[in-house]
Amino acid sequence: MALPSQSVASQASVKGDVSLYQFFGPGGVLSRTHPAYEFRRGQLQMAQSVEQALAEKRHLIVEAGTGTGKTLAYLLPVIRSGKRVIISTGTKNLQEQLFYKDVPFLEQALYPNGEGKLNVCYMKGRNNYVCRKKLYDLTDQPVLSGLDEIEQYRAIASWEKVTQTGDRAELAEMPEASALWHKLDARADACTGQKCSQWDRCFITEMRRRAMESDIIIVNHHLFFADLGIKQQTEEAPDAGILPDVGTVIFDEAHELEDVAGSYFGISVSNLRVEELCRDVEMSLQRHHMLSASLAGALSNLRERSQFFFALLPAGDGRFAFDGRREFLEENGEEFLGLQHGLQRLGSELENLPSKPEEIFNFTRRTQELQVHLGFVMESEDKNTVFWIERRGMGGAGAAASHRAGSARGGGRVFLQATPIDVAPILKSCLFDRLDSCVLTSATLAVGGNFEYMRRRLGLEHTRESVLPSHFDYGNQALFYVPPDLPDPRTPQFAAKASDRIRHLLEITRGRAFVLFTSYAQMNEVYQRLLGVLDFPMLLQGDAPKSALLQEFRVTPNAVLFATSSFWQGVDVQGEQLSCVIIDRLPFAVPSDPVVAARVKAIDAEGGNAFFQYQVPAAVITLKQGFGRLIRSLNDRGLLTLLDNRILKKQYGRVFVESLPAYRRTTDLRQVEQFFETP
Ligand code: SF4
Repeated sequence: MALPSQSVASQASVKGDVSLYQFFGPGGVLSRTHPAYEFRRGQLQMAQSVEQALAEKRHLIVEAGTGTGKTLAYLLPVIRSGKRVIISTGTKNLQEQLFYKDVPFLEQALYPNGEGKLNVCYMKGRNNYVCRKKLYDLTDQPVLSGLDEIEQYRAIASWEKVTQTGDRAELAEMPEASALWHKLDARADACTGQKCSQWDRCFITEMRRRAMESDIIIVNHHLFFADLGIKQQTEEAPDAGILPDVGTVIFDEAHELEDVAGSYFGISVSNLRVEELCRDVEMSLQRHHMLSASLAGALSNLRERSQFFFALLPAGDGRFAFDGRREFLEENGEEFLGLQHGLQRLGSELENLPSKPEEIFNFTRRTQELQVHLGFVMESEDKNTVFWIERRGMGGAGAAASHRAGSARGGGRVFLQATPIDVAPILKSCLFDRLDSCVLTSATLAVGGNFEYMRRRLGLEHTRESVLPSHFDYGNQALFYVPPDLPDPRTPQFAAKASDRIRHLLEITRGRAFVLFTSYAQMNEVYQRLLGVLDFPMLLQGDAPKSALLQEFRVTPNAVLFATSSFWQGVDVQGEQLSCVIIDRLPFAVPSDPVVAARVKAIDAEGGNAFFQYQVPAAVITLKQGFGRLIRSLNDRGLLTLLDNRILKKQYGRVFVESLPAYRRTTDLRQVEQFFETP
């Protein structure tokens, strides 16, 4: 498969050819090849730290602000090391930047006459690729719903004949949430691996082969941890996972690691998962003309048991703790056992099938795994796990009512979740203790100038550490304003007063702003208050997909975008178009969230102080991310506003102030006006 790649050659040829200083320093290779070269001391320092960590087989944690040029600062030492390395990023944007921009640039800079090539591949999660086996099976037995699916199917089927990659990104017209794609993607759960008739032609096999031949493998955190999770579960079975073994991993955008790792080391059992199993089994049996009366009975029994069981789970919206599992089981033990027996019966029926096709073994494995997972989420007493329920697509009170009436149907999905409270011991044993070097980097890792929080949350010990000096002149480029007179954001008066102040500030900045909120409710309330009052074009998160909104913001003069958490990070708007970022309040995680509440409880129970050790540092990282949207280049200039003056009044506010870059600070609106009067 021609996954986009940078051809094959040895990196060893550059090893030792160019020193880091000769590359990054004044008059060096970079200065001769990069059109916007400036000497960045932090970039050279970072490259030296990475090189040292790789050479000494140590872990490194390094905070490098926007403008450091950190991707080149780790890519060059990686190339010079001659080691096979995985680079894992938080976002697709950064993955693409590395593969399509940084790697070709470095290749050209290091081998201007084409005397060498870098051997790099770019991998996405398995669900981005089509599974040929599923597609061919569907072709034999088309079960499609609606004209849309028929059209999508035709498009996928003809594309599959010509695609070199199997990557859905080539199908521009395929809707993001296509239900058909979900049935055809190459996720691991339905894959029979080497026993699959399409194994040799499989896009995943090809991706694995490319990765084996590459020196640098670019992935994202989700793929990395999904792969690690599979390898853990299968105890390193030979074809488990798709990433090759490496001794070195670079985690860029590493501030996201705890959340991503938590989700992949957890367990999730849902009515959707049972339904998907039944659907896959049924389709396969029909295709092979093996759907006997007893198997049909086992499937319908399992579906019924699942409906009964999930309908009995406690009512509630969104995410909430499942504290009374024992009491629930005492009351509803029969339905729980009924579901377990339903799974067991299906498993036995499948197992007893004579001369069965390979995929049936896979269904048996899935059935057994589901049974074990269901047992764990309902009965485990594991102290390091929080058990909770999540409802999706049920829509508020009405859903709760229908739920109480005994229905988990109507499109609502119920997830029983088990999430590790502390991922540190898991990461330590299955990642940090096993690898020679991990480099963790991001613009937001330090709190109060040190990494204690990250080290503790992630289980990193004996690491090298570095906070790099910024390349930006924050004192001149950004003014940080906190209004001292607004009420506490937790009071009912806040929204009205905050809206007035936002209007005033936007008049000074002539729009050109992101107004970022910690909740949808607050965002909608302020938006409604300002609708028809503001003289600038207003964009609201949810009115269009994120990328479309961003594009509209970029091309609409004086636009103001109202948004929540998804715009706090990974968004890059350079230039005057974004001259102001306003944040409504200190971004503490919702304390009632079951995972947050469990972490707080666990830290307090161990004699720690969860507020200072967990809640404040986590909010500091988020605030740094949010404010980081403003200054994206040396020429950017603008206003940062935090409408929550607890940062000035509360003792913990100091931690936030000390963790932010050295912006010029003010509490005086006149200084804000002056800042925009003097360009
Ligand atoms: S090996 Fe797995 S992913 Fe590949 S075609 Fe076969 S079933 Fe699909």
